[in-house]
Amino acid sequence: MNILVLNSGSSSQKAAVYNAADSLGDDPQEPAWQGKIEWEGMHAQIDVRNEADTRLSEQVSAGSRQEATAQLLDSIWRGAAAILRGPSEIAIAGHRVVNGGREFREPAVITPEVKAAIERMAVLAPLHNRAELDGIEMVARKCGAVPQVAVFDTAFHARMPDAAAIYPGPYEWAEQGIRRFGFHGINHEYCAQRAARMLGKDLASLRLITCHLGNGCSLAAIRDGHSVDTTMGFTPVEGLMMGTRSGSVDPGILTHLMRRKNLSGEQIDETLNKKSGLLGISGLSGDMREIVAAMKQGNARARLAFEIFAHRLRSGIGAMAAVLGGVDALIFSAGIGENSAEVRARACETLDFLGVRLDATKNVRPALDADISGDGSPVRVLVIRAQEDWAIARECWRLTAKSRSRAI
Ligand code: AMP
Repeated sequence: MNILVLNSGSSSQKAAVYNAADSLGDDPQEPAWQGKIEWEGMHAQIDVRNEADTRLSEQVSAGSRQEATAQLLDSIWRGAAAILRGPSEIAIAGHRVVNGGREFREPAVITPEVKAAIERMAVLAPLHNRAELDGIEMVARKCGAVPQVAVFDTAFHARMPDAAAIYPGPYEWAEQGIRRFGFHGINHEYCAQRAARMLGKDLASLRLITCHLGNGCSLAAIRDGHSVDTTMGFTPVEGLMMGTRSGSVDPGILTHLMRRKNLSGEQIDETLNKKSGLLGISGLSGDMREIVAAMKQGNARARLAFEIFAHRLRSGIGAMAAVLGGVDALIFSAGIGENSAEVRARACETLDFLGVRLDATKNVRPALDADISGDGSPVRVLVIRAQEDWAIARECWRLTAKSRSRAI
């Protein structure tokens, strides 16, 4: 059974094919094929790799997002890196959908109603939900009536208690649907499940803090296998400092800028999403690798960016620990979380009072997935590789397994 996964971002489009011979077990497997498009100005860069390590790399005109996506999908069954004879060999397609609002607590088979709901939610996440809808259309065009599944990044947080989810503005906000949704739920949930397996414990017995630190960054506090708090909110701008996003800032700054500098909503959006965070403070880059390298060469603004990032991360972890009333494991994941020993070390530096102790040697070059806590550390510290595409494929498998068992 071949499962196609589409992961659409605002400036990139990833796709992967997983082959599930009998079942998809608990341990992640490598995709049989994976591809990515990155839009850079006037060009789209397409990179494809299959399980035999045949690679294709091609630059096409970025004219139409849909055409580039069509080309990416065609390379699954055409050309040197093809692994299938044709689109009819795809059994099911899964899509990461960033915002499922309050309507979706579970993955959903895409019907006209589900599509309409995703479209309604596009008001809240215009760049993402629009790209995801394009992906759904494209799969329908290429693969005909193949069943498609939406897996929502918000779903894992949908049971967050009202005290954590509702903003203390006027109550009408909550009535209008303005509340904290939280994001990165697919990876927070995957990390929680993986951590329980690594620790040999029942997930329901664990209090976990998962740190998804990539281009976007968020924390989740997980109890009984559910997210009970998270740092992102109504939009993915709230919470931690990120690559180009500010994270939480005093909303008074925004009204000040609107009044005094006449900034429009769009300009403020652009500032908070694209010109802030590591990039905004350093003036150099939103990439943590470049920040750390510049900091080591004595760049003061890169150091400041790093220090703000670490400070906010630590205070966020402290807040999540307080919500949980203690922690059993702290988990680092995604680009920065998996790769930056400096960030992990600084984040944990002051957390000894919580029982968080790192093994400095294991922290420097951890295997994935690894326990990097020091001997006798009351809180286990884990590094877990983000496996969003695999997690989406597994949800597709589970949904079809349910319908297969109903058919028997
Ligand atoms: P993701 O969104 O999970 O793909 O993460 C992307 C981000 O991870 C990049 O923008 C980098 O800031 C960060 N990253 C990747 N590799 C490293 C590394 N070796 N050290 C520090 N940060 C890294």
